[in-house]
Amino acid sequence: PTLTTRLYSEEDPVVILTSATVKQTLVNSSTAWLVQFYSSWCGHCIQYSPTWKALAGDVKGALDAAAERIRELEHQVQKQKISHSPQLQVNRFCASDEDFGQETTPSPNRKLQFIQVHPVLLPFSFRIEDWEHAIRIGVLDCAQENNFDICKEFGIHFYPTFRYFKARGPTFDVGKTYRGADRELQTVRQLMVNFLQNHTRQDWPVSCPPLEPYSSADILPLIGQKSNQYTAVIVENEDSYVGREVILDLMMYQGLTVKRALSSERSLTEKLGINSFPSAYLLHPNGTHAILHVQKRLRFFFSSFLKLLLGVHRKLSTSGAPQEPLLEGPRGPGTAEALKDFEKSKVYMADLESGLHYLLRVELATHQTLEGEELKTFKDFVTVVAKLFPGRQSVVKLLETLLEWLVSLPLEKIPFDAILDLVNNRMRISGMFLSDQLQWVGCQGSRVGLRGYPCSLWTLFHVLTVQAASRPDALANTGLEENPKAVLQTMRKYIVNFFGCQECGKHFEEMAVASLPQVKSVDQAVLWLWRKHNQVNGRLAGTMSEDPHFPKTQWPSPDLCPICHEEQDGIHVWNEDKVLMFLKQHYGAANISPKHMY
Ligand code: FAD
Repeated sequence: PTLTTRLYSEEDPVVILTSATVKQTLVNSSTAWLVQFYSSWCGHCIQYSPTWKALAGDVKGALDAAAERIRELEHQVQKQKISHSPQLQVNRFCASDEDFGQETTPSPNRKLQFIQVHPVLLPFSFRIEDWEHAIRIGVLDCAQENNFDICKEFGIHFYPTFRYFKARGPTFDVGKTYRGADRELQTVRQLMVNFLQNHTRQDWPVSCPPLEPYSSADILPLIGQKSNQYTAVIVENEDSYVGREVILDLMMYQGLTVKRALSSERSLTEKLGINSFPSAYLLHPNGTHAILHVQKRLRFFFSSFLKLLLGVHRKLSTSGAPQEPLLEGPRGPGTAEALKDFEKSKVYMADLESGLHYLLRVELATHQTLEGEELKTFKDFVTVVAKLFPGRQSVVKLLETLLEWLVSLPLEKIPFDAILDLVNNRMRISGMFLSDQLQWVGCQGSRVGLRGYPCSLWTLFHVLTVQAASRPDALANTGLEENPKAVLQTMRKYIVNFFGCQECGKHFEEMAVASLPQVKSVDQAVLWLWRKHNQVNGRLAGTMSEDPHFPKTQWPSPDLCPICHEEQDGIHVWNEDKVLMFLKQHYGAANISPKHMY
């Protein structure tokens, strides 16, 4: 019901324009604009709003809200049985032929597929956040009384009307209407690129990188030259948008320039040895160069690969000031110590044990006594790890003994010192032992204060959900055996009651309230945690807590799991069956490495 009143809120990643702001925003703007004039009572506008939000990208904090809203929509779609719902005859636009050309044939099933795609594409393929220094996306609700006059002035007769506004327009103008009937996300995205290219040298958006192709004569002299940054050259056919989209995807990154060249530049393609298009060629700062091998030659694979190059990182959004490139050494400028050797395709027991040590001896130890909900949470936590932790014998034995002790003590209140005494002293005598050293490997940060414990906590819970899914009998006789959400519920309670970062706990709780009830199997539990972790990654990308050497990307990246990624109509989608297989392999006991353990 809330959908019919207001389609966009401040939490969405679009700029909400009003009669009071629209002119001053659009006149002499440093960026181009694509604005949707809509009406909150228009059925199509309602249906189109998830697409528009997806188009506008996942600006920080908006991702969860937008994703939840889409889930809400999906839910409604399912409830309303799409083919019978008049509201979902979505391709019947509210506008007339005059404004948008031919009405398209209603095809509700196609739209259903479209909506279902969005929750997964939101965080990943379409970070227009990164394009917003070139072109921004706005909305104006013509059904609001105080906007009546301004919509009249813009000459808006039908909803939705899409208008483009050039950057640096010196005076008020009503913009150019997009009249095409195809509003699929990929089409509109390509239109945005075309529109940017319609600017002249005089009104080119200030921060927009060049989108025109470079010639052989421009590129060939760069080959073999040293530089203070990478150059990636996308070589493609003339009608391809991949190069321009990758350029825009990377425009907020430093340490790299992306250029495009056309496949018709024979001397270039011969020199680089490229004969299929699009391809990317990478010139390294040290003068070496090579073709860039990605599993699939798609925009998203190129962009993800380039964003993960050492020394390439997002400009910090808070300061806006460019940072020094981090090419000097493995830990960046000013840090001498090298990173420990590790592989990102592995999980490290050292991280899991260090996490358990920190959790037991530091985080929980701030609680003098455990009682009530806290004690119940602690008991459930110990039950779940004692039964599911695929660790060393000495650690598993310690956890099992701790569990027996907790179960045998029908106390309502336990002083935490008693637990510490048991773990630190009494059990050690019998060879049960949990190292009290912090040793981060897969969770090591490039400087102190980054990564470490929270990384290990995510890792631990991913391992536990995978164990619960692979060993159905492991929780027998614990009271949790019938519950496919046992691990997630324990994690949720742990995070709320004990996790030191309260804000994180609040966010996590909001996600759990919204979607945990839908989890019905142990496999769904594995996927739920993966999805939520990615939502958190999306929200935190580019913030101060991001380690520039370990950027927060949507995980697993294509180099880790190429088959997890697909493209449908030019839009990135996850193949969740493959993701599940990958998670079970990655977080499975056989993939946990003992390297660097004390
Ligand atoms: P992490 O996000 O900690 O990930 C650890 C490892 O898990 C990665 O290196 C990768 O190998 C793997 N991984 C990454 N994504 C996935 C995925 N989707 N599925 C499976 N494996 C994956 N910090 C905040 O600033 N604000 C918050 O609101 C916040 N909420 C949090 C909520 C929880 C429950 C937890 C445990 C942590 C939270 N944090 C929050 C901390 C933050 O998420 C990171 O843990 C921290 O910034 C360290 O980041 P990292 O680079 O080590 O990667």
